[in-house]
Amino acid sequence: MILPGTGRGTSEAGGGVQASVPEAAGPHRQDHSPVPLHHPAGGPPPRAGEEYDAIVLGAGAAGLFCAAQAGQRGRRVLVLDHNAEPGRKILISGGGRCNFTNLHVAPDRYLSANPHFAKSALARYTPRDFLGLIEAHGIAWHEKTLGQLFCDGSARQVLDMLLGFCEQGRVELRLGEPTGAVEHRDGCFHVNGAAAPRLVIATGGPSIPKLGASGLAYDLARQFGLKVVEPRPALVPLTLGGEDVLFRELSGVAAPVEARVTSPWGKAAFREAALFTHRGLSGPAILQVSSYWKRGDPVEIDYLPDLPGGWLLTAKRSQPRKRLRAVLAEHLPDRLAQALAERLELEAELGNLPDKALTAAEQRLARWCFMPNGSEGFAKAEVTAGGISTAELSSQTMEAKKVPGLHAIGEAVDVTGWLGGYNFQWAWASGHAAAQAL
Ligand SMILES: Cc1cc2nc3c(=O)[nH]c(=O)nc-3n(C[C@H](O)[C@H](O)[C@H](O)COP(=O)(O)OP(=O)(O)OC[C@H]3O[C@@H](n4cnc5c(N)ncnc54)[C@H](O)[C@@H]3O)c2cc1C
Repeated sequence: MILPGTGRGTSEAGGGVQASVPEAAGPHRQDHSPVPLHHPAGGPPPRAGEEYDAIVLGAGAAGLFCAAQAGQRGRRVLVLDHNAEPGRKILISGGGRCNFTNLHVAPDRYLSANPHFAKSALARYTPRDFLGLIEAHGIAWHEKTLGQLFCDGSARQVLDMLLGFCEQGRVELRLGEPTGAVEHRDGCFHVNGAAAPRLVIATGGPSIPKLGASGLAYDLARQFGLKVVEPRPALVPLTLGGEDVLFRELSGVAAPVEARVTSPWGKAAFREAALFTHRGLSGPAILQVSSYWKRGDPVEIDYLPDLPGGWLLTAKRSQPRKRLRAVLAEHLPDRLAQALAERLELEAELGNLPDKALTAAEQRLARWCFMPNGSEGFAKAEVTAGGISTAELSSQTMEAKKVPGLHAIGEAVDVTGWLGGYNFQWAWASGHAAAQAL
């Protein structure tokens, strides 16, 4: 797909990060000689008292993007990460092809205690801005579905682009270094022997700890007196117990459905595929509703959202010799059709079943109620919902209102997007907003 006004592989950057170091790099740049991009694990130890304009904690999507832009604005930036490799989530994202943004980004596609908070940053840095960078960098891309933009090649291209921007901005990366105590004194933040008047928390949330995810962002927020909205796993498979475990026999079966939940975070309905697993329910429709789901709430599935009301009575008139299982199998995978027909206990031919029973069956198929007994937790959650309270932050600069110089961006903040490129767009947009203030 080629968007109007953008040519694939052209050199027209869409805005935001420029692909070159600004000529007039500003007063912050005058005295510093080129700094190496990488200090791999085991590299030079932190130099005591080293001063920067900003220290960014976390070399993920938000941290790298923010650091690159601040660096290209002439700021002397240090990025610290305890992983030996930057951007590990970028590399595995989108099945290795990085769903880097979504054309349909809108504030109502993000969950937050304050649904208005994300508006400013999202408006000031848009999907087309990021797409402009992708194209200027010659990265081929495609729209998969529902506005989701993926690399044609590999997610590594996006990471390499970000690292290239960091290099152009002379950002210093120190990797494989555990984060020590963070202190705030004399107007500077001190960490791992470095000091700066500004500190950006970009360490994400605790989802997928094996990739290096941690709760450091929340510990720091609490240390500085900022409230944290209870973190919870989001975009996560749900587990089934009780009578629902019978559905586990369908493990591997997927079907296009509408999944719905009603929760404290609002009503949500997603029309995408659901997948039965050996532990419960997954697939895009379920991952989407999981972000809105609260323990103890039901998840409702409409197995046939595209069929008009009364379709089963119509089927009875037109195909009276058929059985329910066969009619369902016209629209659903065979194993699922069989399982549903068995549970509805309508074995006879449609013509021999009372209209009332068929109407009740149709209603049940449109509102099939599952009671998940939990989720697969942070170990499997694609993102963490909740996080540093937006009430504590400026929506313009992501700076803490009561701690000048302290910023928080990306997944660390209580802003969580839908599945499909929304979370990276928040990482870019919040990183961009903070970078303008560094
Ligand atoms: C499997 C998977 C696939 C995904 N696919 C997509 C997708 O295709 N599209 C999309 O929009 N979103 C996707 N996401 C979500 C997306 O990856 C995140 O929302 C995004 O990476 C958040 O960016 P971030 O910079 O805030 O945090 P992260 O990318 O998580 O970066 C945080 C960084 O901080 C570092 N860090 C953490 N703790 C510490 C510490 N104590 N000390 C020092 N450093 C620390 C980490 O090592 C990491 O480098 C996916 C997530 C997963 C898990």
